Amino acid sequence: MTQIRLHNTKTRRKEDFVPIDPKNVRMYLCGPTVYDRAHLGNARNVLMFDVLFRLLRHRYNKKTVTYVRNFTDVDDKINARAAASGRDIGDITAETIGWYHEDMDALGALRPTHEPRATQYIAQMITMTDDLIEKEHAYVAEGHVLFAVESYENYGALSGRSIDDMIAGTRVEVAPYKRNPMDFVLWKPSGDGQPGWESPWGYGRPGWHIECSAMALDLLGPSFDIHGGGNDLQFPHHENEIAQSTCAGHDFANVWLHNEMLQVEGKKMSKSLGNFFTVRDLLDTGVHGMVIRLVMLGTHYGKPMDWTDKKKGEAENALRKWYGILQGHGFNPALIKALKVEGKWKADAEFVGVLANDLNTSGAISRLHVLAKNKTAATLAGFAHGMEMLGLVNNWSDIPMFDGAEGGADVAPAVAAKVDVLLAQRAAARASKDWGLADEVRDILNSAGVQVTDVGGQATWTPGPDFDAAKLGDV
Ligand code: AMP
Ligand code: ZN
Repeated sequence: MTQIRLHNTKTRRKEDFVPIDPKNVRMYLCGPTVYDRAHLGNARNVLMFDVLFRLLRHRYNKKTVTYVRNFTDVDDKINARAAASGRDIGDITAETIGWYHEDMDALGALRPTHEPRATQYIAQMITMTDDLIEKEHAYVAEGHVLFAVESYENYGALSGRSIDDMIAGTRVEVAPYKRNPMDFVLWKPSGDGQPGWESPWGYGRPGWHIECSAMALDLLGPSFDIHGGGNDLQFPHHENEIAQSTCAGHDFANVWLHNEMLQVEGKKMSKSLGNFFTVRDLLDTGVHGMVIRLVMLGTHYGKPMDWTDKKKGEAENALRKWYGILQGHGFNPALIKALKVEGKWKADAEFVGVLANDLNTSGAISRLHVLAKNKTAATLAGFAHGMEMLGLVNNWSDIPMFDGAEGGADVAPAVAAKVDVLLAQRAAARASKDWGLADEVRDILNSAGVQVTDVGGQATWTPGPDFDAAKLGDV
């Protein structure tokens, strides 16, 4: 069985993933604040977690994986939007949730098992806040409830900061009622026109962080497997979630996953910088959701990335070719069913192995290129299975159609012939145990960016992203 490995922010290492209970694998992703359309950066961890969800369902069992992603529907940004537009808060959040679903559906993201809205969990947040006061990890001051960071000795461990460093780094004015400048709000009073609920500390509303602790506890229990979000959430949001849940007596998340940022000219794409475009903007200009998906999965989640027209064009070419192959070979629900009956609907072991290695989506995409090129019955089944696992096909009766002839950067026949000669030389050298020559040939192929896979004793190849025919030399 494939061993999934994940890079855990908590330990700063790549670790074997061992679920607390393999019959109940649980993951939580911090979801959007719903006042506006999602920008492309917001889609990054949705797609990353979608692939993780699919991988876990493949490795364990479809019914045993629970995925929670929340909607933050109480927040001062939402209040500001309501005040500026004169609209009702409930209308704004309902409309934005509808948009979010439309946009993420277009990217082929499966709906999580639960999508709790913060406003549905106020009672649980009040209970947890009360518990933290009782345990002396929180205090009431001027109608606010604050978490006392000094009461938790590991505060800062996730993001690797000390409380003193954090204080030195703060630029905002510190509220006078805070015992420590880093203490954060669990509950705050609401005035006229602001959303609010009755509580033991007066009419008010929760701070942001407590919602994830309360919802994760309610839906996943006191301990669960994986928690994620963008690395911009490591501090303070995730640090605060850990402090709240741990001090309330729960183990909380075992593995923490953080994605790097989608950037625009070296800067994080964000609403506040104004350097963003929405997923809807792209879809409306005719970019297919699967093209967006393939581009986003083309870079490992742990690396920063840019959206570029070049990547978009490459993804379009690959998908045109791949969907053409699936259609040309008659992939449809009946064929998939037949393959299942015959026990031939199987994942390609190398594809899953690569993907299971800390969600190496770009490596998995390279493997799809190889499988698509080889086109034997077994590799085609593995290819189709991989397409589904990356979420590039979600409905076998509706494989997307891409216009135009089979595109893609197929190499010129003369260049392909050179690679074939080198592969034949490598096979001959291996057969005669001339390991020196075999290595030499392998190095030439590597330096030219040729990706070689040995399937059933037969070597097949595909030009990798850095393919450079000039480096093949004179054969
Ligand atoms: P927000 O609505 O700003 O709280 O963000 C929702 C999710 O999107 C969080 O997990 C963020 O970490 C993530 N996110 C925001 N901006 C980016 C970006 N430029 N690249 C990748 N992820 C982002
Ligand atoms: Zn959260």
